[in-house]
Amino acid sequence: AKVTRFGPSPTGFVHIGGIYTATIDQDVALHSGGRYLVRVEDTDQSREVEGALDQFARGFAYFGLTADEDSARGGEYGPYRQSEREQIYLTYVRQLLREGRAYIDFATKDELASITARQQATKLPTGYYGSWAIWRDAEAADVQAKLDAGEPWVVRFRAPDDTGARVRFTDAIRGTIEAEANRNDVVILKSSDQSPRLPTYHFAHAVDDHLMRVNLVIRGDEWISSVPVHQQLFGALGFEPIQYAHVAPLMKQEGGSKRKLSKRKDPEASVDFYLESGFPVRAVLYYLRGLANGRLAELPLDQALEEPINLDECGVAGPLVDLVKLDDISADYVATMSGAEILDAVQEWAQQFDPQLRELLESSRALALRALAVEREGAENPRKDLKKWSDFRAVYGFFFPELHQPVTGPDDERIAALGVAPDVVRAVAADFVGAYRQLDDGQEWFQQIRDVAAKHGFARNAKEYKKDPDAYPGSIREASQIIRIAITGSTRSPDLHSITQALGREETLRRFGNLTA
Ligand code: GLU
Repeated sequence: AKVTRFGPSPTGFVHIGGIYTATIDQDVALHSGGRYLVRVEDTDQSREVEGALDQFARGFAYFGLTADEDSARGGEYGPYRQSEREQIYLTYVRQLLREGRAYIDFATKDELASITARQQATKLPTGYYGSWAIWRDAEAADVQAKLDAGEPWVVRFRAPDDTGARVRFTDAIRGTIEAEANRNDVVILKSSDQSPRLPTYHFAHAVDDHLMRVNLVIRGDEWISSVPVHQQLFGALGFEPIQYAHVAPLMKQEGGSKRKLSKRKDPEASVDFYLESGFPVRAVLYYLRGLANGRLAELPLDQALEEPINLDECGVAGPLVDLVKLDDISADYVATMSGAEILDAVQEWAQQFDPQLRELLESSRALALRALAVEREGAENPRKDLKKWSDFRAVYGFFFPELHQPVTGPDDERIAALGVAPDVVRAVAADFVGAYRQLDDGQEWFQQIRDVAAKHGFARNAKEYKKDPDAYPGSIREASQIIRIAITGSTRSPDLHSITQALGREETLRRFGNLTA
């Protein structure tokens, strides 16, 4: 059984890569009969952003990524927030100090800068190590004098002195990795000016993951180069080594090259983008799972959400986030939903992001259901016009008298663009309305449009019209577009007959008012 964890830092907005990694965490734990926990990594309090944790909670709840243990629901291995674990870290720092595996360091910023400069000048590896480390082998009395003087200090790990040694470890995604052993005396406890006294990432990782009995650390591959120092820390603390899986970052195609999806540059890097757009959760999860394991992208959605993600099938190169692909997946998914399911989802989304639409849908539920049923319910190929809930206004808005923009007359831009003379537009509209009044539902609806078009001398098809444009007011296409624009406000719409049924006779007729007046 795998115990995995995700460690969000409340230092900014939630990155979609976090959802991606947490999905893998949760899935691996679930399919191994283990546990998935969330630990808030807030040791960098100067970088903390107000509200980031709430945003994190919202985003993760939206994607159904509930942990088995976290600071809200508790658990036996808490606290699940690093800023509340000060005493635990200090216990282990003292242990290392007592054993001589760590030391107190007073090096100032300037001293550190000068060390780096001298190392660079002589082409030596930069860092605080060996004889460069000023306080590594200091006399106890000198240390005490500094402490008495109230100088700020940090605690550093005393790295083993194995210059040039190589280490090997196995990564669940990348296989065997060989790297140089760490020589740097990394900081493990941050400056004494701060309260609470908090550890660095390296130290907190070792202490927390060990104490929280995590046995598989799934994290971003920017940490891969830190594994050697992490292994040393685990060893010095007397902890069993831990297994790692380093996940490649989500990428974005830019021109001919790929780069990491960037918080600053790419709106789709933010979890909020998916919430605000109203992408269905299951579609996004399906997409992300497919990025993790290509095999899952080949499966139908329901199955892909059930099948396990295998770490050894995760790529070493970062997968490309392609919003066009996500749109397609999402549209396919929405097409499998019933009108009522879609309406519920749109309403839930609108509650937060479009209150006015929410109100309208509540008061016009029956109309909304009729609108959503058009070419969907019972249709062999249901419409794929909704990719995300924020599309609803643009796609279905015209059904609602409150949102529909009626044509203002024959010179309305949308009508004028057809190039049909205004008096012909009026005549077509009037004759159509006359015929429509006589229509029963069972009757051939399009025949009416054809008859009206023929009566006013429209060409039977575009080809005929093109041959001699001066001979006709337009082709049957233009004639029927007059009707379509009047009813829907646009030149593209689903089946007109179904639309008029959803709208009702009265509302349909009303939409011709400005063309026939
Ligand atoms: N808080 C760390 C980060 O934001 C988590 C890394 C880890 O999962 O160990 O990068």
